[in-house]
Amino acid sequence: MNDDDIAPKLRTPAVSPPKPLPHPQDPVEQEFWQRCQGGTLHFQRCGECRTWRHLPRYMCARCGSPSFAWEPSSGRGRLFSWTVTHQALHPAFAADVPYVAAVVELDEGVRMATRLTGADPATLALDMPVALAFETIGDGFRLPVFTPAAGA
Ligand SMILES: [Zn+2]
Repeated sequence: MNDDDIAPKLRTPAVSPPKPLPHPQDPVEQEFWQRCQGGTLHFQRCGECRTWRHLPRYMCARCGSPSFAWEPSSGRGRLFSWTVTHQALHPAFAADVPYVAAVVELDEGVRMATRLTGADPATLALDMPVALAFETIGDGFRLPVFTPAAGA
């Protein structure tokens, strides 16, 4: 089969464009991504009721307090949900298909949309233990992703 037999969206581009990077406008979102660049995953934790939260925001959804601190995540969690992507919706991801887009529930209780790498999609299971890793994209941007944890 030559390239003319493949629908344009399914063709692998000769030169892949760079993967899009997050461009957060909000200072608390910017701080979340800045901390990832240091190779650690931090979440906000309420200064009053101690509830962890993600996505970054200015007030606690549980008690309404504006007081918070950034605290390091254990980096451990479980696979909460996932989908296997077989068609790249952006040409920068064409070489990666199939890949796993996932929601991970961290031990801290927050859930995070992410990517699961290093796993055979056929072996995935709900509540499978996963561990934090960082994937470098673009010019050294560190993106938090997850991999199956030892013993998974
Ligand atoms: Zn609170």
